[in-house]
Amino acid sequence: MGRGILKRLANSLGQVAARLPDTRRPGNDTKYELQDALKSALSVFYLLHPSLLDFQRAMEKKHRRSNLETLFGVKEIPSSNQMKTLLDDIEPGGLDCVFDEGLRISKLEGVYSKQKVLGGLMPLAVDGTWYFSSKEIHCEHCLTQTRKNKDGEEETLYYHDALTVAIVHYNSSVVLPLAPEFIRNEDGMDKQDCEINAFKRYLERRKEQLKLLNPVFLGDDLYSCHSICSKIDEMGMRFLFTCKDTSHRWIVEQTEGAPFEEYKRVEWDGKNHEFA
Ligand SMILES: [Zn+2]
Repeated sequence: MGRGILKRLANSLGQVAARLPDTRRPGNDTKYELQDALKSALSVFYLLHPSLLDFQRAMEKKHRRSNLETLFGVKEIPSSNQMKTLLDDIEPGGLDCVFDEGLRISKLEGVYSKQKVLGGLMPLAVDGTWYFSSKEIHCEHCLTQTRKNKDGEEETLYYHDALTVAIVHYNSSVVLPLAPEFIRNEDGMDKQDCEINAFKRYLERRKEQLKLLNPVFLGDDLYSCHSICSKIDEMGMRFLFTCKDTSHRWIVEQTEGAPFEEYKRVEWDGKNHEFA
């Protein structure tokens, strides 16, 4: 990613931060601006810091601090604890427009069109990812799992999950993340939220953007279910999902020995990036 693109993304974060409510109570430390915390958080990922602690240590070195100030336009670098305090109350959906801006920039820079496959389809990889788990810390939106610990006692694990969506290409290391769909419990839900529900919500919520993308969704066996496949089909879009024999016995029974004519078989040789 060029410096120009990075600066535009950082600017976009700054503009979003200016619109977000500052939830700090009067009397709390208000020295740091929300936009500095957001840009610093982006830099943790961009500069591949393995943890916030590592980020904190790096910022103790003068040249690393000036990198952050120059590349991301951060004025006052908050500590990792101050970052957490500032960012914890932000509703994650409030940052969707930054992902949209990233997509817009990638179109302008010509990255976007190179990602298309199969005569103009945009490959969108979809997968769930946990980004928080704890046995003690939890909130009203936490998903839960009951497990047995090593002593055989039941214990509850609290976690947060998100459906992540990204434009990928089999022959390119460029990955363009789109706005994720957060999987979390809300008031009034009968059942715990899950990846399938989140995928359906995502399709509905982002349908205008998806129409323009003309996607082919790529995903694992979990999404090979009627409710997801039929919804994608109704929306006039396509999918390529893993379909394991063990979880789709009916399909296996119907297709085994069926008189289907093989039209084309494409296999990856596992070495070259081109299909053989
Ligand atoms: Zn929670």
